[in-house]
Amino acid sequence: MDTFLEEELFLSSRVKFAAESITLKLNEKANLLAESGHQVFNLTAGQLPFRPLPEFVEKLASELNFLKSFQYSPVAGLPDLRKKLIEYTEKTRGIDFASHGEFDCVVSNGAKHSIYNVLGTIVDPGDEVIILAPYWVSYPEMIKFWGGVPIVVKGHNFDAFTPPIDDIRKMLGPRTRAIILNSPNNPAGIHYSSQWMKDFAELVKDYPNLIIISDEIYFQLCYFDPRPTYFYQVRPELLLRTVIVDGISKALAATGLRLGYVIAPKRLASGMTKLQGQTTSGASSLVQRALLTLDFDKIGPFLSPILLHLRTNANIVRDKFKEFYLSKAWYQCNSAFYYLIDFTQTPIYENALNEYKQTHDQFENIDLAGTLCEALLEKYGVAAIPGSDFGAPNTARISLVMEEAGLTEAMKRIGQFLSQNK
Ligand code: PMP
Repeated sequence: MDTFLEEELFLSSRVKFAAESITLKLNEKANLLAESGHQVFNLTAGQLPFRPLPEFVEKLASELNFLKSFQYSPVAGLPDLRKKLIEYTEKTRGIDFASHGEFDCVVSNGAKHSIYNVLGTIVDPGDEVIILAPYWVSYPEMIKFWGGVPIVVKGHNFDAFTPPIDDIRKMLGPRTRAIILNSPNNPAGIHYSSQWMKDFAELVKDYPNLIIISDEIYFQLCYFDPRPTYFYQVRPELLLRTVIVDGISKALAATGLRLGYVIAPKRLASGMTKLQGQTTSGASSLVQRALLTLDFDKIGPFLSPILLHLRTNANIVRDKFKEFYLSKAWYQCNSAFYYLIDFTQTPIYENALNEYKQTHDQFENIDLAGTLCEALLEKYGVAAIPGSDFGAPNTARISLVMEEAGLTEAMKRIGQFLSQNK
């Protein structure tokens, strides 16, 4: 091959400077350990390990009989499906779009694609987009891809990883174009409280040019009351600057079918449609057609045993933290299917920090998440994801989807690992 092609130079700076996740590296290591006969508890899963809603699978199978399922769909999605998704969003969030202006739905290849399209539609080079840490790994990279600048506001373990409204206020400036909310949150496994949402609504009402991207992909996955609420429920006029993002990856346990959507003010939705029309075109016709006739009321009963499972597992986490005297590192998770371990509140961290100090002069902004996750995997056979990529240094994300016996054993090992003080 031409050496020019092999050189880094060949890649665009956009791609060259995009971060690659350390998650992949750790997953590779976990697989290697498992292949060499070690027992590995893999808590890195970003999806539900269950078959999708059965009625949905049946619809998909029967739609295979129609030619239209194999042909292009309209760029923004099937009109009747878009209408249905708007109605579904109105019903589940208790809002009424039509009384506040003109809105539309755009269907894309997964919620990730939807977010990418929203950002492409509103961000000019140099525009700032506020994200709240811990945040979903892809936000900063997607913002940068469009030439935007991610501005991070941090939440902490002692506030269940909810960033203070005042800290957000301080970051709002003339170049702020948008803010991304993700509640329920990946990786923290919490949703922001209704008081927080009220305060947020009061804050953003005074910034008329600010667009709020509300990533609600985990909306259905809340296993402890109260359920998630949103700022636009308090001040529905904010819907005119809000983009609601959702999809079927989590609610229908169908990550691989790649279907996400937004409900957005019409002008914004038209912009997104224009962008999508020149890139990916309409999303899968087959999946859209199956959704068109699916009874969405079946989603609740489908998720109910899954939510029970997540609740049990969240209790296992709580009990193990208690058993190993780690309550300083514990917070109550309630939604999505993750938990973020704050290493800094555990004995192992102190230990690792002292070790680090012996060999390094500089230890400001130190992040031991990668080192600790590697040690957890190598010595205890538990794979967790370092929180570094989520904007949460010195933490690790674990997934709560594993069966109970497996999670109990994995949590015991995590407890042993975290409580080591020498
Ligand atoms: N937002 C968040 C917070 C997520 O965790 C994910 C999936 N991991 C997505 C969006 C993307 O979902 P999809 O599979 O529909 O692209």
